[in-house]
Amino acid sequence: MAKIIDGKAISAQIRAEIKEQVGTFCAEHGRAPFLSVVIVGDDPASQVYVRNKERACNEVGIGSDVLRLPSDTDEETLLSLIDRLNRDPGVNGILVQLPLPSGIDEKKVICAIDPSKDVDAFGYENVGRILTGDYDFLPCTPAGVMELLKRSGISAAGKDCVVIGRSNIVGKPMAALLMHENGTVTVCHSKTADLPAHTRRADILVSAIGKAGFVTADMIKEGAVIIDVGINRTPEGKLTGDVDYEGCFEKASAITPVPGGVGPMTITMLLKNTLKAAEKQI
Ligand code: NDP
Repeated sequence: MAKIIDGKAISAQIRAEIKEQVGTFCAEHGRAPFLSVVIVGDDPASQVYVRNKERACNEVGIGSDVLRLPSDTDEETLLSLIDRLNRDPGVNGILVQLPLPSGIDEKKVICAIDPSKDVDAFGYENVGRILTGDYDFLPCTPAGVMELLKRSGISAAGKDCVVIGRSNIVGKPMAALLMHENGTVTVCHSKTADLPAHTRRADILVSAIGKAGFVTADMIKEGAVIIDVGINRTPEGKLTGDVDYEGCFEKASAITPVPGGVGPMTITMLLKNTLKAAEKQI
């Protein structure tokens, strides 16, 4: 039977630590770290994510504002707002909520953020630094997974680690971080031949696909650690991951639930990055 990796509890513990560190920062510098979140348009899921980020900042004492732009905002207007935030010494972290409306070049916008304020770590400079292992910030979701492993006493060193998914925001940086921790990493994707042959070798399996119930018990090794990054909605509106949780529970040695696994860690890592950005800038 698997140990449940409780992302909610681990996240609460880290947020308490961050709150204390923010208190120390405020006492030393007379002001709180500050995050500016930019959202363009009215995508309902993005609105929820942004509200959650604002609430989380509040809880730990990080200052924040949300700059809401209409969906017909052009690229130039957005770039000039980012330029203003880059030059504002009162702003330590800048996050542009994705996706952006069509017609705006996401890469150009993300790379316009000053790398020292790029708390999502999606800009090319930070991506390069992550790959070389010389980084200040890590992208929030893969960083959250590494923290879950660490605080659950699970080391990737020498283990067969299999990541399903190769997106720029989850799969690729996840593979890099597991490699930095001396895991032997395989990255699978939609063109991988005989995917179960790879997943069955995994001591640590990270699934970041976006397909409910994709990873079934017959695809995992006895005693594997299963990390489910996926967030999917069932036709009934229930939140679920990529992994058949009930099916894999008996066979795995540890497993993250959805909700309550990786999800709460993502915003927690954003708070950590914002504090770190403020410390570095001062
Ligand atoms: P993307 O859609 O950008 O990437 C999905 C990846 O999964 C791609 O690399 C794709 O392969 C691969 N894939 C899709 N279908 C299959 C398949 N049948 N077999 C093998 N690989 C497959 O998604 P993201 O990386 O942005 O997100 C992945 C999931 O994680 C989503 O459910 C998302 O909601 C969730 N998520 C959760 C977060 C959290 O905080 N918990 C944060 C961010 C994301 P290919 O490259 O070949 O197309």
